[in-house]
Amino acid sequence: MEVNKIDDFKVNLLNAIEAIEHQRNILMSKDPIFGFITSKYVKCGKKNCKCNKSEKFGHGPYYYLRLEPDYKYRKYLGKKIPGTIEERVEVGRTIKELEKRKEKIKSLIYRLNEL
Ligand SMILES: [Zn+2]
Repeated sequence: MEVNKIDDFKVNLLNAIEAIEHQRNILMSKDPIFGFITSKYVKCGKKNCKCNKSEKFGHGPYYYLRLEPDYKYRKYLGKKIPGTIEERVEVGRTIKELEKRKEKIKSLIYRLNEL
């Protein structure tokens, strides 16, 4: 690539980073949740209950939220995932993706600067 083309390319990449940061700031104001939703079936412990007979007959599913940093913390959500929680988890996931994209662009700029 010619030098001026490389410079143009760098400017485009820097603009892309700026756009990502702008988008990220907007999403950060939407109360993101950084984690994911899991579900499981549980046994109630009653002797005569169907759940005692087979794994297949557990109660639920019940939903939980696993949170960063290590996802060990588990918050009980109930039998239905509250819509707002689902949206906020989605916002968090999008922010993470934007951050990954930004890191990729940054490393590309770094490599271009090495040329
Ligand atoms: Zn049961």
